[in-house]
Amino acid sequence: MKKWLAPARSRRLRAAQRLALKAAYYSGALHAYRGARRARIHGLTVLMYHSIGGSDLLGPGLAVSVKNFAGQLEYLARSFDIVPLDSAVGMLRAGAPIPDNTIALTFDDGFRDNYEAAFPLLKRYGAPAAMFVATQPLTDGISLWPYRLRFLFKKTQARELRLNWPRTTVGRGAFNLASARKRRRAVDALEPALIAAVPSERERMLAEIARGLGVDVTSDPADEAPILTAEQLKILSAGDIEIGSHTVTHPALSSLSCTDAAEELTASKKTLEAALGRRVRFLAYPFGASQHFNAEVEDLTQKAGYEAALTTVPGVNGRSADLFAIKRLGVYDDPPAIFAFKLSRWFA
Ligand SMILES: [Zn+2]
Repeated sequence: MKKWLAPARSRRLRAAQRLALKAAYYSGALHAYRGARRARIHGLTVLMYHSIGGSDLLGPGLAVSVKNFAGQLEYLARSFDIVPLDSAVGMLRAGAPIPDNTIALTFDDGFRDNYEAAFPLLKRYGAPAAMFVATQPLTDGISLWPYRLRFLFKKTQARELRLNWPRTTVGRGAFNLASARKRRRAVDALEPALIAAVPSERERMLAEIARGLGVDVTSDPADEAPILTAEQLKILSAGDIEIGSHTVTHPALSSLSCTDAAEELTASKKTLEAALGRRVRFLAYPFGASQHFNAEVEDLTQKAGYEAALTTVPGVNGRSADLFAIKRLGVYDDPPAIFAFKLSRWFA
């Protein structure tokens, strides 16, 4: 009996500890949520969303449910001054002090649910926003490659994937695909190698993965994760939504040659401007972490005619912020109290 008691007790203890932690977390969260009026963030906060109510093709938690999005928006509208991205950039450019609690909302990757689910809620709260769209899905009807990659792993029946990529970090890899978690781990391990590759090489890698997985290489998640149509983009653009570029093919711009990076920047801008009949002024760097853009990319972005560019480097922007490296905070599928609690980390 004794043999069983000890683990039982430690199991109970662990459960109690977890519960206590959870309680502390939630009371902190509620405190942050209720204390919204006292919330103070110095500088410009830019939030980054992806899908609203949509697909599990994104990383876990990246698609925010409609319910949570509505709750988050309600909290933001009550506690912050939600400004259009161009006003926010104008403040940074002027170098004047930024009023506390200034916030701008952004959406990356151009999911159709941004129009169907997010737009009505944004209108309800009078909240302006910016949406960053990559143009290859618009012009060629092909989904962005990170989602195609995930889709291949969703469709496969294979229990294992073997690759022979001696020149990549993955190397001669064998991936166990026996569970959803293992498949996710394989995607996470492979993605950096595809991010680092130039587009033609990346397509070859995707084809090789599809072959290895026994899945049709043309499999496309367009039906499961549909993107904004040109018509929807026009309506959004006429309705307080700033449409920005997210390049053509969603590459890490720092891994491209100058010529190819410039082409991604100018071609996407041109396509969107033709579709919208108005200027496209802002860019969101695909992937957007510090290794995915550099001074050269910033320079090319400016030369392509953009006025500012957004990263995924987490942080709040002070008055001396670099206009071509604006920081953002990624938002996850959290109920409003947890969302407020996470945001409170940046409170002054
Ligand atoms: Zn993106």
